[in-house]
Amino acid sequence: MTYSGLLPDVDNALTAPFWAAVRREQLVAQQCVRCSSFRWSPSEVCPECLCSETQWTGLAGTASVWSYAVYRRAMHPAFAERVPYTVAMLELPEGIRMLGMIQTSTGDAEQDGEVRIGDQVRVTFLHATDEVTLVRWIPEA
Ligand SMILES: [Zn+2]
Repeated sequence: MTYSGLLPDVDNALTAPFWAAVRREQLVAQQCVRCSSFRWSPSEVCPECLCSETQWTGLAGTASVWSYAVYRRAMHPAFAERVPYTVAMLELPEGIRMLGMIQTSTGDAEQDGEVRIGDQVRVTFLHATDEVTLVRWIPEA
């Protein structure tokens, strides 16, 4: 494959279960065994009750756009071929927020008008390499 962007460390002990699930095209997050709250980003203990027992639970794979920004200048050389691109803070129905890259026709959500705050998006998966799959989001039709 020819993906040239930055790649996550999929072997990191804290986040490896997330990347393994994403590889199977399943979006997951940690859910506290004691208080059932979801959390993102991954952490060793629950920020609500400090319990260290957690499970990785499948998510609906939908979200609403809480805010977004269009990048027209590459902030890192690895993104030079990708500009413009849109990064959004997404609010998931499970009560967590995630940053995510939104796929639109031009990459520029302001120009193509395909994404606005409050719009619904759904997850999709980009198989970047033989080992790494990345999360992307697309506007709901
Ligand atoms: Zn908890």
